[in-house]
Amino acid sequence: MKYALLDRGDRLSIELAETFHALAADRGLVREETSPELVVTIGGDGTMLQAFHRFRDRVKDVAFVGVHTGHLGFYADWKKDELPELVERIASMKEPYLARYPLIEINIALGNSAEQYLALNEFTLKSVDGTLVAAIHINDEPFEMFRGDGIVISTPPGSTGYNKSLGGAIIHPSFEGIQIAEIASINNRVYRTLGSSMILPKHHHCDIAPDPDELLHVAIDHLVLQMKGVRSILCRVAQEKVAFARYRPYPFWNRVREAFIGSPPDKR
Ligand code: NAD
Repeated sequence: MKYALLDRGDRLSIELAETFHALAADRGLVREETSPELVVTIGGDGTMLQAFHRFRDRVKDVAFVGVHTGHLGFYADWKKDELPELVERIASMKEPYLARYPLIEINIALGNSAEQYLALNEFTLKSVDGTLVAAIHINDEPFEMFRGDGIVISTPPGSTGYNKSLGGAIIHPSFEGIQIAEIASINNRVYRTLGSSMILPKHHHCDIAPDPDELLHVAIDHLVLQMKGVRSILCRVAQEKVAFARYRPYPFWNRVREAFIGSPPDKR
């Protein structure tokens, strides 16, 4: 088993990474930073997002597993004192269960060129200078003219991130779709948007057409860019999926409950 490790860079994560490497060497795991089969992250969900983008071009060939150093994360679900157990399971389980989660493909048409991105959590669009104005089309049909702070288009695994803070629904990652959520849309007698979030299935797509002269704030997960001259942005479920190696069962709804509610309720 060839593995790569990415830590958050703080002292605790670096120390835990050293412990992981020592345990892994004892169990015959091979450290391979460029073409690993398994990517281990130590830190938080942000560290997993970084690892996903570092290995984006190898997403079909790698699986990810995350260790958290603080609170339970959505992607980082092993605790820091469980490293010996994790290494033991990696060494002994040759073929762990792979939970495959859908991603978003984002195609940004800029002048005469196009740029393609893949997001694990979401794509966020805002205007740098204030209100974002953009026409939204669904399956090539005009849907609405958005005016407001911005638009977030999330994956099912990303539905518990920024999307949830915007009142979007939490979607089980076995569902292949994308969710469009509004950030503070302006709704009055002149301007009108749907107001609620929408979930599109895999065979649908949406296009966002902003004013090309607008300076845009574009975020792909944690990566923030500024762009001008954007003609349109197409979002749809990507062909690729990301795989998370599960060395023990951890049902999605248990993760949701533990992250947002706490311990299981008393049986009545
Ligand atoms: P960060 O470190 O500030 O992370 C923000 C929080 O989002 C952390 O608590 C992290 O655990 C949590 N998070 C990330 N992905 C999650 C997921 N899929 N489900 C549940 N929680 C998740 O920022 P970062 O490391 O740069 O992370 C970027 C992410 O932060 C974005 O992808 C977005 O989902 C999230 N975010 C949230 C808000 C908000 O809720 N208002 C605003 C901006 C970004």
